[in-house]
Amino acid sequence: MADRQDDLRQELAEQLKFYAGLGVTHLKIEEPVLSPGESKVTEEVTSTLDTVRQDLGECTRCQLHATRKNIVFGTGSPKADLMFVGEAPGADEDEQGLPFVGAAGQLLTKIIAAIGLTRKQVYIANILKCRPPNNRDPKPQEVEACEPVLFKQIEVIEPMIIVALGKYAAQTLLRSDTPISRLRGQFFEYRGSRLMPTFHPSYLLRNPSAKREVWEDMKLVRSTLEELGSAYYR
Ligand code: SF4
Repeated sequence: MADRQDDLRQELAEQLKFYAGLGVTHLKIEEPVLSPGESKVTEEVTSTLDTVRQDLGECTRCQLHATRKNIVFGTGSPKADLMFVGEAPGADEDEQGLPFVGAAGQLLTKIIAAIGLTRKQVYIANILKCRPPNNRDPKPQEVEACEPVLFKQIEVIEPMIIVALGKYAAQTLLRSDTPISRLRGQFFEYRGSRLMPTFHPSYLLRNPSAKREVWEDMKLVRSTLEELGSAYYR
């Protein structure tokens, strides 16, 4: 063991000499140095939503940064058993920096209340964190740039169920072009959770008769959360 430590010290001293030769005067330690046999705690496990948000910073990874007013990261409980994911922020969300705060958001609040929950108990986010101008559809390169942030959020929150709101969110997350009318009402395995596609609240504002289907979907979400032992209904 002593020999091994001497070797490591010598190796480290040589590396430091090498950096000094390059004119480097300070080194930032990115990873903890672990003793042999010590288990490595992964970045994913130690990440919190705050660190995911900090890592995102004032993101310029896609062109939407140029027209946004605010990044709409997400809101709710970091330990939510139920997560809602929409497509992208709209004008109200862009203005306030919060997801689902316009008329569709008020309907989502009612949908959440219909299964006995509040917005604070669930987590609400979008695939894109910045508003596409004039609410146009997200472009593939924007999704590619932003979706990893959602993946990180899901890794940290570990929801039992994710409800994908609307055609775009459901088709994007499931990598499917099946119509939302055929995707909804059933669970799909998704990143360690179960994903339920359903209609977007803004669609319900235009087509109130579709509320019946969303209610069926949400009843299934609730009964499945109960079966899975969610603390929401204990
Ligand atoms: S949409 Fe996402 S990737 Fe694009 S600038 Fe906003 S936060 Fe960054």
